[in-house]
Amino acid sequence: MRIVKSDLIVEKVKQLCIEANLYLGHDVISCIKSKIEDEESPLGKDILKILIENAKIAKSKNIPICQDTGMAVFFVKLGQDVAINGENITDAINEGVRQGYLDGYLRKSVVDPITRINTKDNTPAVIHYEIIKGDKICIEFAPKGFGSENMSRLKMLKPSDGIEGIKEFILSTVKEAGSNPCPPIVIGVGIGGTVDKCAQIAKKALLRNIGENNKNSYIEKLEKELLLEINELGIGPQGLGGSTTALALNIETFPTHIAGLPVVVNINCHASRHMKVIL
Ligand code: SF4
Repeated sequence: MRIVKSDLIVEKVKQLCIEANLYLGHDVISCIKSKIEDEESPLGKDILKILIENAKIAKSKNIPICQDTGMAVFFVKLGQDVAINGENITDAINEGVRQGYLDGYLRKSVVDPITRINTKDNTPAVIHYEIIKGDKICIEFAPKGFGSENMSRLKMLKPSDGIEGIKEFILSTVKEAGSNPCPPIVIGVGIGGTVDKCAQIAKKALLRNIGENNKNSYIEKLEKELLLEINELGIGPQGLGGSTTALALNIETFPTHIAGLPVVVNINCHASRHMKVIL
């Protein structure tokens, strides 16, 4: 059994919180750059250039890419041959979030849902665990802004709605979102499972690097087809018109019940932040 000290988890999570909010991923930057030439709208081209400039300024001045530094969401793969010494892993992750958001001067956006009183340190984090073989811990962090989270939707389709119903729901969700999620967006789609599983796989789909499609060839084809259709909607960068509405559309599926067809569309903005560490 390998021993990992909880202090190390705290330190690494703190770093993840700060760095993911300051440095936009290379995959997002190169995708936005590649869209500049193809963008049909002159204003859209300018906005894409500004997004690149924004990421450069954030990096050079050590300031967040966006003022909304999000709710802290984690996907953790925990090897079954690891023991944590010290705090339990959930407490260690939350302590890392607390320290990262305080020391990194990141906005604390988490409130009680009813009283709206701020927890003042951006905790608690939303943490999804998966137990895997081996003696490693993989911690992936994805801060989630709510301009885009608020435009996400769940629909319990009927099995008879089929693939056409799924496509229609995804397209209508993106249309309805319009400029609100700060396009160009990244779209995570969950299909199947239960209500909770479907939302979880939609969120997980957002963790993929841009350009990484589903390994199932049928789903990959669907991802590419829907991405093309979305970019023909004309919403464009920041919703001001153009041909770059989305950078990626990632679908994850899970077997479901004979009587149901849950679909979740989880929208992320151009500040598609995610970073991981393996301990
Ligand atoms: S949706 Fe994204 S880019 Fe827009 S304000 Fe929120 S975090 Fe920032």
